Parts: sequence; structure tokens; C-alpha cells
Amino acid sequence: MTSESAISLHRTIDLTELLPITVSPQRGAGTADLRADLRAVQAQAADLTLGAGERFRYHREAAYHALDLHDITVAMEHALKCLQLARASGDGPSQVKAHVTLALAMMEAYDDVGAQREFLAARTLAARIDDHRGMALVAVNASHLELERRKYPQAARHLLDLLVSPHMRGLMEADARQLWRTFHVNFVTGVSETLMAGGDLHLQETSEQQLARSFEILVSLPGRNGDMPLLEVAGVLDALIRYALWQGELAAARALADEYIRIARDADFPLLYGRALLDRSRVHSRIGDRDRAIADAEEAVAYFGAGASELWEVRSRELLAAAYAAAGRHREAFEIQLAVTRGVENLFRDYHQQRALVGQVEQQARESEVRAKAFAEAALRDPLTGAPNRTRAMQVLDELHAHAQAGTPSAIALLDLDFFKRVNDTFGHLVGDAVLMKVTQVLGGELRKQDLLARLGGEEFIVILPSVTLEQATAICARLRDALQGAEWDMLTPGMNISGSFGVAVLDGEKDVTGALKAADRALYAAKTAGRNTVITAVGVGPDWRT
Ligand code: GH3
Ligand code: MG
Ligand code: MG
Repeated sequence: MTSESAISLHRTIDLTELLPITVSPQRGAGTADLRADLRAVQAQAADLTLGAGERFRYHREAAYHALDLHDITVAMEHALKCLQLARASGDGPSQVKAHVTLALAMMEAYDDVGAQREFLAARTLAARIDDHRGMALVAVNASHLELERRKYPQAARHLLDLLVSPHMRGLMEADARQLWRTFHVNFVTGVSETLMAGGDLHLQETSEQQLARSFEILVSLPGRNGDMPLLEVAGVLDALIRYALWQGELAAARALADEYIRIARDADFPLLYGRALLDRSRVHSRIGDRDRAIADAEEAVAYFGAGASELWEVRSRELLAAAYAAAGRHREAFEIQLAVTRGVENLFRDYHQQRALVGQVEQQARESEVRAKAFAEAALRDPLTGAPNRTRAMQVLDELHAHAQAGTPSAIALLDLDFFKRVNDTFGHLVGDAVLMKVTQVLGGELRKQDLLARLGGEEFIVILPSVTLEQATAICARLRDALQGAEWDMLTPGMNISGSFGVAVLDGEKDVTGALKAADRALYAAKTAGRNTVITAVGVGPDWRT
């Protein structure tokens, strides 16, 4: 860092406009209110009379409430439900949001690999559909994960990359206020900590300018209209404390830390008061007030030890050990360090138990998703032959019709087996069924991967040939006809022969799907009257045929 940039940033921090922060009763809502809110939102989410979009929003809200309450399995269930609903709706931005919510739930379960996988899924999708808001959402939340893991340069990197990207405009939308505030909180936290540790940032100048800007924004936030949720106010204070420490403004850091303690003490939120104690202990250490540093760290150990969080208890012990060591109390520092080791072992065990629990929820959700997918696929297949059915054929035809209108025509052919009633009458219905299955295999083996053979019903099929000309399609159908006639029907039942008649038509932009099907059907009828086992091609829409 150049001395110039450091000096140009430095200014005495004036907190008179910020402090004291008035915490309104609404903002002070704690665990009990949050639980009540969660139950209300869960009831809405379960209301099947509501639309999928509304239920998605309620599930997402429920997931966030559960996260605030550190109720990980509940958060995971709602996050997975969000993803399911978003996928069913096919709405891209909703899927991006759902992946991010899932990532946060996994992060809370300490499954960082899973969380990164979900962030990647969200980022990939958002980039593909050009969803600026989604890209910003991913960056801000990915930085949150890094901050929670105390990887400050990585957190800063996510935000800096966002800052210089076109996706930054996703943060500027009127209803993105909360995301915008979180950006500044995370930015100040990540960049201040990185600089304090003597770390480098790519885009050094940009980050220093933005740091000053974000700081100003944070200072102006809590007092402005008094409607910021308490947890967000806490985030702002936490960020400002780190900024003040980085600036060496120890009096301001101390005032902010006291304020954080004051608003956190009466608030009924898990972890909050303990985190405030840790922040203040650190400030005391920097000031050189060792007794107070030790007192706050000891209280934090007791607070988290009383059941709030084992992870944070271990972190407080680390800080306490450092505070003892700084005060020359080496014996106590050593003993606390031993307790840290034991705590880490417990954490490890808890983590695995937690993973097992969360894993079950994930597994169930994935199974139900697989089942839903299987149902959806089964609905598009003919149960006898396993070939795609009429519904699927119509979907593909609609897609190809759109391509045709854009200038790439395709070809279709209707196939009706010849004298099939006779097959049934002579050999029985079961043999008839076996023939239908074999027809599917024989013709399927002749087609390309992108072609589609679907059973429309009875002994009628459609062959769909994407991007194929009428001439090519006629030749392909002639080959199909030969393959059908030449198949070893004898193996099925001695003395049996099977043939089919084909009516070929073009699917171009001129007529609609129904028009193309009608043309193919007329050609098929002509093939039957021409003696069967033959291919007739519809030329134009008129009644003239050509073999
Ligand atoms: P054409 O050459 O004129 O088409 O003669 P065809 O006997 O094939 O005439 P048609 O299309 O009227 O008869 C179709 C027969 O296919 C009627 C029915 O018995 C038989 N069929 C329809 N669906 C099935 C099925 O799922 N299994 C079996 N075994 N037979 C079926
Ligand atoms: Mg028929
Ligand atoms: Mg027939």
C-alpha cells in the first residue's frame, strides 16, 4: 500500500450522528417473535390453495427465519421445497434464489462443499439467463460464507468482482435495499480485516475508494428511519468496529463496541450478545486494556457455553487464550488452549451427527424429486412399447414448428401397420403386442439420436426427423419400410409377415402442426390405397402425390 492512499483515507471518525442507536420495539423482535413468525409463514407455505409463486416466497421466508433461529433442519427443508417449486415453475430467477437459500442452509450445517456447489449452480444459471440481481445475490452471499469462516480476502474478492461487473446494477433496484445494505456491511468487514492483516487486494485503488464510500453509507444507515431489523443493525456495528480498528480509531471502536453490547444485551437472539462480547474483547486488546479484554472473552465463553453454540465457544476460548497470553498469564492461556482442543473434538463429533441429520432431509428431498421426475417422464411414454407417446410427439412438433418458422424446416412421417387386425385375429392379441414392441425396436435402431419415433395409438406411429428435407425423409422412410419388412418376424411366430405404410410431409413455417399432420395423413391414406407397404410423400398442401 502506498502511504498516500493510506493517508487520504484517514479521517477522524465522527459518530455523533450514529450514537446512540434507538432500537424500536419492532426492531427488537427476538426469538419468541421469530418463532411465531416462522409458524405463521409455515402455515402459509403449506396452503395448497395458494399459487406456486406465493408458496415459494413463504418457504423462502420460512427458511430465512429458521436460519436466524439456527434451526438448520427446518431451514434445509424449506430451502429444498423452494428449489422444488422453482424448478417446477421453470422460473430462472426463482431457481437462482432457491440455490442461494440452500447454500446458506448448508453453510449453517457446516457443509461448505455443499454450499459452494449450490452457489456455483446459482451463479451458472444467473449468468446464463443474464440475471443481474441473481449474480449480485450470489456474490453477496458467497462473501457472507467467507466472512463467517474468517476468510476475509476471499470475501472481499467476491464483492470487488461484483463491483466492477455489470451485475452491480442488480443491487441498485428499488426493492434490493436489504441486499444493497448487506453488500456495504460485508465490504467494510472484508476489506478492513484484509487490510488490517496486511493482506493485498486486487483492485487496490477501487477497494479503498469503495471502502470510504461504504463506510459513509453504513454510518448513515441505522439512525435514518429506525426501521432496520436488529440483526442488521448488529451487522452494521460489527463492520464499523472493524473499520475503526483498521483506521486505528480506538476511541470510536470502543464506543461502537459498547453500543453493540448495549443493543445485543436485551435482544433475544441466539449468538448476538456473545458476538458483541467478542468484538469488544478484541477492541480492549487493541487498546491495551487487558483486564477488560479477558473479562469480555470469559463472559463470551460462558455465554456460548450455556448452550448457544459450541463453534463460537471454541472461538471465544481462542480469543481468551490470546488475551491471557498477552497479559502474561501463561498457565491459564495454556489451559484454555487445551480446552480449545477438546472443544474442537466435540465440534467434529457434533458436525458429523448434524451432517447425518441434514443428509437425511436432503436424501428425502432428492428421492421425492427423482420420483417426481420419473412420474413426469412416464407421462410422456407409451407403457407397452416404452416409446414416446402422443403428448411427447406434440411437444416436439411444437418445438420444431418454432424452428421451422425461424427458417429450419423438418419432416414428419405417419406410419400405420398393414392389416394389423389380421395379426391379432390370426396369432392372438399377445402376439400383436409383441409385434408392436418389436416394431419400436427395429425402427428405433434405424434412426439418429435426434430423431423421434412415437406411438400415437393402436398400430399408428409418427417418425419425426428434425432438419431433414422432404427428399431425405422419403429416402429414410423407404429404408424404414424395408427394415420393417425384412425383420425376422418368423422368430416371433412362424409364417408371420409385417409391413407398414408411410405418409411423409414437411413441417415448415407455412402451415401449422395440424396442417402438417393432415398432409401426412392424406399421404398415408394414399399409401394404403396404392397397395400398402409403401411410402407416399405429400407435395405442397394440394391433393397431388408423388412416390
Ligand atoms: P390397414 O392396413 O388398413 O391399416 O389395416 P388394419 O388391420 O391395420 O386396420 P386398422 O387400422 O383398422 O386396425 C388396427 C388394429 O390394431 C385394430 C386393433 O385390433 C389393433 N390394435 C390397436 N391397438 C392395439 C394394441 O395395443 N395391441 C394389439 N395387439 N392390437 C392393437
Ligand atoms: Mg390403423
Ligand atoms: Mg393398420
